[in-house]
Amino acid sequence: MLRVELHAVAAGPLETVAEVAPADPALADLEFRPAETVRITGRIMATGQGSYFWEGRIRTAMAVTCRRCLVPVVVPIDQRVHLLFTEDEDTDDPAAVLLPPRAATLDLGDAVREELILDAPEFALCRDDCRGLCPRCGTDLNQGPCQCRPDADPRWAALEALGTQGDDETR
Ligand SMILES: [Zn+2]
Ligand SMILES: [Zn+2]
Repeated sequence: MLRVELHAVAAGPLETVAEVAPADPALADLEFRPAETVRITGRIMATGQGSYFWEGRIRTAMAVTCRRCLVPVVVPIDQRVHLLFTEDEDTDDPAAVLLPPRAATLDLGDAVREELILDAPEFALCRDDCRGLCPRCGTDLNQGPCQCRPDADPRWAALEALGTQGDDETR
């Protein structure tokens, strides 16, 4: 989706600008799909024979669900990327992406995909103090209390029994 001609980069830094639709096959089978167009900016420059450094920025929003109450939540993503592409198999950059020898082009698509996977908000909340769902009846407690009586919970009953005992001893 974002193919860079490397002979052009060898002549000077190149802007990397692209917009990728959420339905683009390059973004298929992500766990969380982008909720809006993925906007890619930045630039790529040669940093030696067969090595290219990309300073990129990826902006979009992800459609996820609140981990507590399960309502849909859209989380904005604004990620800076610093990534080395190189033909040098002995590179000491563990994050470097290896290029085949004398590659004519490189595809930023995989890098963008990887970043979106890393940035996917696994533990999104609709708001910091989301009350979540009642574990017994499933009521969304953000909408108000449910009909479950706290004293019907055996853990509460045990605590109440302890409290009663305590009262007896002090009397
Ligand atoms: Zn929530
Ligand atoms: Zn309940």
